[in-house]
Amino acid sequence: MLFLFTGFLAYSRLSSREEEAGMVFSNLILATIIVLAVGAVVFGLTVALRTYVKYRGKRVITCPETQKAVAVHVNATNAARKALFGKSYVRLDQCSRWPERQNCGQECLSQVNADPALCLVWNMVDHWYKGKTCAYCQKPFTEIHWHDRHPALLAPDHTCVQWNEVAPEKLPEVFETYLPVCWNCYIAETFRRQNPEKVLDRTWERGPGGEYIPKEDSAAPVAKPATRN
Ligand SMILES: [Zn+2]
Repeated sequence: MLFLFTGFLAYSRLSSREEEAGMVFSNLILATIIVLAVGAVVFGLTVALRTYVKYRGKRVITCPETQKAVAVHVNATNAARKALFGKSYVRLDQCSRWPERQNCGQECLSQVNADPALCLVWNMVDHWYKGKTCAYCQKPFTEIHWHDRHPALLAPDHTCVQWNEVAPEKLPEVFETYLPVCWNCYIAETFRRQNPEKVLDRTWERGPGGEYIPKEDSAAPVAKPATRN
C-alpha cells in the first residue's frame, strides 16, 4: 500500500513538471508571436510614415507634354497606406493642369521618384533664399518661416508679394527676375505703397550722440526686368 502511494506521488510530481514545462513552452510561443506581430506593425508603420514624409508637399516639375513647369501633389496618404502593406503605389491627386488633363498618364512621376526632395517647393524656396540678402535692409536670410512671416519677392514693377502667394508653377520664372525681401521690409514697403500720405521719409538720422546726420540718398532696389518667352 505504501509502495502504491509513493508511486502515485512520484507520478503526480512528474505530471505537474510536464504541465509546467508545457505551459512555459506555450508562453514562449505566445511571447514570440506577440513580439513578431508588434515588430511587423512597427516596421509597417515606420515604412508608411517614411513614405508619407517622402511624398508630402507640393512639387514643381516639368510637364513631359508641354515642357513647362507644373505644380503637382502626390497622394501621400494613399501611398503611405499602400506602403503599410508592402506595396508601392505613387499617384498624383493634384496638378496645375487639371482638370483639363486629369486623365494623363502621369509620366511626370518619374521626375518625382528620381529625387523627391529636389522638386519639393519648400526646398526650392529655401534654397533660393539661402545665402541672399534682403533687397531693402540687406539683412541675410537665415531660417525661413513656413507658417507665418513669409519672406517676400520684389517684382520688376516694384510691387511686393509673399512667396506663398505666387502659384508654385510660376516660382522658377519668378526666381529668375524678382529680388528677395524680408518680411519686415515687405510689411513696411506695402504700407508705404498703400498709404503714401502717411509716410514721411527722413533725410537725416541720429548719430551715436543723438546728433543729426544727413542721410545719403539711397536708391530703391530694382529687380531684373522680366523676360517673357
Ligand atoms: Zn529687409
